[in-house]
Amino acid sequence: MARDLVNTNGSFSTEVERHLQTRQGVSPGEARLDDWWRALALAVRDRATAGASPARLAEAKEVNYLSMEFLIGRVLEDALTNLHLTDETRALMDRHGADYDAVLRAEPDAALGNGGLGRLAACFLESLSTLGCPAYGYGILYEHGLFKQSFDEDGRQAEAPETWLTDGSPWALRRMARRQTIGFGGTASDAGWYPADAVIAEPSDLPVIGWDGAWTNTLRLFSARPVQPFDLARFNAGDYAGAAEEEALARTISRVLYPDDTTPEGQELRLKQEFFFTAAALRDILARFEERGHALATLPDKVAIQLNDTHPAVAAPELVRLLTDERGMAFDDALALAQKTLNYTNHTLLPEALERWDEGLFGRLLPRHLDIVDRIDAAHARAHPKRKVAARADGAVQMGVLSFIAANRVNGVSALHTELMKETVFADLNALHPGRILNQTNGVTPRRWMQTCNPRLAGLITGAIGDGWVADLDQLQGLEPHLEDAGFAEALAGVKRANKVDLAGWMAAEHGVKADPAMMFDVQIKRIHEYKRQHLNILETIALWQAIKDAPNGDWTPRLKLFGGKAAPGYVFAKEIIHLINSVAKVVNADPVTRDVLQVAYLPNYNVSMAERLIPAADLSEQISTAGKEASGTGNMKFALNGAPTMGTLDGANVEIRERVGAENFFLFGMTADEVVRRRAVAGHAAKAVKADARLAAAIRAVRAGMFGAGFDAIVDNLTGPDYFLVSSDFTDYWRAQREADRVYADDAGWTRMAGLNIARSGWFSSDRTIRGYMADIWGAESLFD
Ligand SMILES: *Cc1c(COP(=O)(O)O)cnc(C)c1O
Repeated sequence: MARDLVNTNGSFSTEVERHLQTRQGVSPGEARLDDWWRALALAVRDRATAGASPARLAEAKEVNYLSMEFLIGRVLEDALTNLHLTDETRALMDRHGADYDAVLRAEPDAALGNGGLGRLAACFLESLSTLGCPAYGYGILYEHGLFKQSFDEDGRQAEAPETWLTDGSPWALRRMARRQTIGFGGTASDAGWYPADAVIAEPSDLPVIGWDGAWTNTLRLFSARPVQPFDLARFNAGDYAGAAEEEALARTISRVLYPDDTTPEGQELRLKQEFFFTAAALRDILARFEERGHALATLPDKVAIQLNDTHPAVAAPELVRLLTDERGMAFDDALALAQKTLNYTNHTLLPEALERWDEGLFGRLLPRHLDIVDRIDAAHARAHPKRKVAARADGAVQMGVLSFIAANRVNGVSALHTELMKETVFADLNALHPGRILNQTNGVTPRRWMQTCNPRLAGLITGAIGDGWVADLDQLQGLEPHLEDAGFAEALAGVKRANKVDLAGWMAAEHGVKADPAMMFDVQIKRIHEYKRQHLNILETIALWQAIKDAPNGDWTPRLKLFGGKAAPGYVFAKEIIHLINSVAKVVNADPVTRDVLQVAYLPNYNVSMAERLIPAADLSEQISTAGKEASGTGNMKFALNGAPTMGTLDGANVEIRERVGAENFFLFGMTADEVVRRRAVAGHAAKAVKADARLAAAIRAVRAGMFGAGFDAIVDNLTGPDYFLVSSDFTDYWRAQREADRVYADDAGWTRMAGLNIARSGWFSSDRTIRGYMADIWGAESLFD
């Protein structure tokens, strides 16, 4: 809705109090934290959804972002910020003796995603609203988001179910009139599909409020419901469990988020989830398109559909089916329309993460779609008879190939990743379709990742250059001259110090971690994966510990090594890395010789809220993946924007961060993607690397000897054996770059300048810039504000 429809007459507080009474059933005096945040959310939602759509909306091109994951975290603070309601809300809380910050923290963190891919989707929706691009996000309303992580006494990961939706969400408005029936299984013929089973996809709408409240888009998430609530005949016969069976089965589809973003579970339920939300989204999109009164042939002029990775790739055969079987269009016309409407974002080159579904399973669940995949392949083979690239190959449906063939545009998420896509997984298809692949480097929303999460820095920046940067992040460049001013530089250093003091207080209170804000806060927070190389970081920690013990009176830069991140429950090696980090922390933190200059902490249950706390307080950003493996990264951007220089490899968007902030403001180490490939071909590369570096050898020896407890054989054997991710081979240069960071950090003014230049030159990493790129190059969509 348009900006002028946002009610600004100061009645927000009254609306909150009314919701407290009518929806939570309490007076302000009785309200608990939970009551307050829910009443606030309801009042915010009323504002965001009030008013009619502008007439031109009917003619505008509409973007639809289909994603298995939306890692939205907490929503309230972001919404209040974007609506400029934080001051009024603070005053309201003060009037009633409620603690504003505690109220915000009472909202559960909605972890409807695993990591970067899901967080990107959340940033994109916010930017789409901020830019006034009419858009819908489509996904699943998971009852249980990503598992809660804790550590047992030995420091091993333990998992517990997450419960964000148990008491319902005030953000999610059920839209009963827009329910869809989704079939599964059964048989197919030339006339169509006769599913054997069906479930109801029930949408709930969550508002996505843009900056200034200028526009609000919708995140529409589907819950699975049974067609029949329960079987009355079985119930009456006394079979109570059996009577509820169908309901339980149906609800299973939206029960849990698959706890991994890089290894698809080869399970029927996962494919069911993918088809469930994709099919529901397509029906909803077509229904809206038809309600707008457009002719089917104009679909690509009015609708763009983005597939966030291959999880919604079944959209290709499903859209063709909806146009042919259900609307009577000829196959070739339907395919041509689908190809002009669909676009695909690739997020990974890791072979184990490229989805392929066994054709037996696919055909059993989606028989008509398997036929259509074959017809899509046949059409492609006719158009390109010389080179055969088929989606159905090797007994499986290759979802990457299917997405590529059926898409108008295919994009990578950083310059390096896009080039590697062209050279590796999609080399053949790129040759057949030159120009279809393009790059859109990821970004992050500056509202959440600066304005809201780092109010001190946001205030300092606004004081220096005004507040235009919030919606136009390139304006941060205007900070550069201020960095020459000693007063400003001191204030900038003061912001970081204050953020570190806050974080230290929180870590002490919540996690019993003692942290000295005078130390360098060296932070690695992200999913635990061998390619992200947390084990390189902890090995360097061990080596540093040993070096300090050897020379306790040396001139060491005090460091706190902070870790956060979850491992997929079935990823044994990643869980051993967690166990090792916690075990090293125990030994190192207890060492009286080193503890004043080296501390290690692993904070449990990393999520969006924790990222918002940690990033503003970070001094150094660890982005140390094996070159060629991290498609982009977005954590790296958040850190740079908040004034933490990167310790990183030439991987993903690190390359572009370094180009922009300047090589002298980035701690580069390690092999390039090309060198990685060559090094891997060297026989015994890991053993050679260990032999060549006495520090590395000693660190590995300490682990092998059980200095941190038993059970790390798999890690030791890997680092001295196959070491596919080249931890050992990159160690020596990593150590060198870390000591370089020590030297620079010891010079307060030099470090502050480097941090300041990272901030001033990171404006390009706004997701507003990314979304403008998608709008212009992929969707052909325009802002309603223009
Ligand atoms: C930004 C973010 C990520 C992505 O981090 P990378 O370092 O790019 O992998 C993952 N999880 C959360 C909670 C985030 O906020």
